[in-house]
Amino acid sequence: MKTRKPLVAGNWKMNGDTVFNEHLLGELRASLGREPLAAIEIAVCPPFPYLAQAGGLLAGSAIERGAQNVSDRPNGAFTGEVSATMLVDLGCRWVIVGHSERRQSMGETDDDVCAKLTMAAAHGLGIIACIGETLEERESGRTEAVLARQVDALVGAASQAQRGGDVAAPMPAERFVLAYEPVWAIGTGRSASPEIAQQAHAFIRSRLAALAGEGRATRILYGGSVKPENAGSLFAMPDIDGGLIGGAALIADDFLAICRAAAAHSGVSVER
Ligand code: PEP
Repeated sequence: MKTRKPLVAGNWKMNGDTVFNEHLLGELRASLGREPLAAIEIAVCPPFPYLAQAGGLLAGSAIERGAQNVSDRPNGAFTGEVSATMLVDLGCRWVIVGHSERRQSMGETDDDVCAKLTMAAAHGLGIIACIGETLEERESGRTEAVLARQVDALVGAASQAQRGGDVAAPMPAERFVLAYEPVWAIGTGRSASPEIAQQAHAFIRSRLAALAGEGRATRILYGGSVKPENAGSLFAMPDIDGGLIGGAALIADDFLAICRAAAAHSGVSVER
């Protein structure tokens, strides 16, 4: 039985506006008010300008907020950047780092991602750290080598933060989450099959255990064209602990159905 509490996080990417957000979050809030899904954690990650609006709309609800990126610098003359302190000030609990769209379009390297992770962890933010291979890497048999390289880098930075690094409060284990997102499955409508996803998750978990000895405690989300139709079969896999959801996170009924699927496959018992 799974003992890790699933997390379902919606990555809105560069979508939404004040009216759209009000409808979407209003529907999520109302539905989860009637039917609380206490066996899972739920987060939404709107674009930076809407984090405060989302905070108002979600006040008092169990839905947490995350950001899609963070600067690796503390503050100062970095035009266009957003600091971890600002995210905490806005009530964010999570931040996504290393999304493949940022790795590919903005040229973010493993070192850049680790620097962001370290800064975010030092400010008490939970981390959703993305990893995944491209189609070319998979087809040339390099999936495990790519995942190993990414996991090693991220776990090195996370372990340092968990030991306390140079800050007073060490990052608790449950605040470091990996998201396996095969690049070829993101926004393409072509999800990894549950078996392929499970194979990658099992590999990531074994790597985690070898590196940090805590493979079993760390949540590993799957991301890449998760929809209500495939969520149940993905979340039924033993090493898949929820999802990072893109397109389907913008449709209230779809996001809620995915959350229900995660709750149905949670091994976490809930007091009623
Ligand atoms: C994502 O961008 O993290 C993602 C998983 O997108 P989608 O669900 O649209 O494939």
